[in-house]
Amino acid sequence: MPPKSALVLFSGGQDSATCLAWALERYERVETVGFDYGQRHAVEMQARLAVRAGMASVLPQWADRLGPDHIVDLTGYGAIADSALTADRAIEMDARGLPTTFVPGRNLVFLTVAAALADRRGLDTLVGGMCETDYSGYPDCRRDTIDAMATALSLGLDKPVVIETPLMALTKAQTWALAERLGGQALIDLIVEDSHTCYRGDRTLRFGWGYGCGDCPACELRAVGYDQWVARP
Ligand code: ZN
Repeated sequence: MPPKSALVLFSGGQDSATCLAWALERYERVETVGFDYGQRHAVEMQARLAVRAGMASVLPQWADRLGPDHIVDLTGYGAIADSALTADRAIEMDARGLPTTFVPGRNLVFLTVAAALADRRGLDTLVGGMCETDYSGYPDCRRDTIDAMATALSLGLDKPVVIETPLMALTKAQTWALAERLGGQALIDLIVEDSHTCYRGDRTLRFGWGYGCGDCPACELRAVGYDQWVARP
């Protein structure tokens, strides 16, 4: 039996917005989950609602497929996982060579909570925007980590847990191209206008690729990818 339903880990950023469109193309029923872990970019929580609302008008069948949104309060975890995203610290490299924006174990926690929610909601598949090509050096974004999580969750829940990561091998430019293939210019416009990526939660400046401070690592990655996609042959 092919999977018919999915739970998308949906932060409201470019990557998870593209993953949501990817899931809406494939599955008959799609629900979303967002995690509030006390992140600096609480503006993301607003962006995710705008992106969800906009998805329904990109393609009519997507409106029928898009089910409820779930918000899970993980502020207790955020308090443990002190990092530059959740505390007032500079964005820099630590002794491991990891940026201080790294929240230890974040995707492991998110996937565990998502698997529990998917089980309760009767959803077949988890979909996440993890990416190991131009990722920011986060070890929990690697496909090896995701595969190990899928194995652990399948054992722990005593049923197969499938984790799809459609962006894993894509560059940011290829992620824009995927969005265009899935939803055309309407989806590109929605992602540019309403998705939010900036670590600083800044939406005062508007660039071709959307809103942000323009110089944090997340904005730089998004800008470079967009420029490469626009300059495509
Ligand atoms: Zn920024």
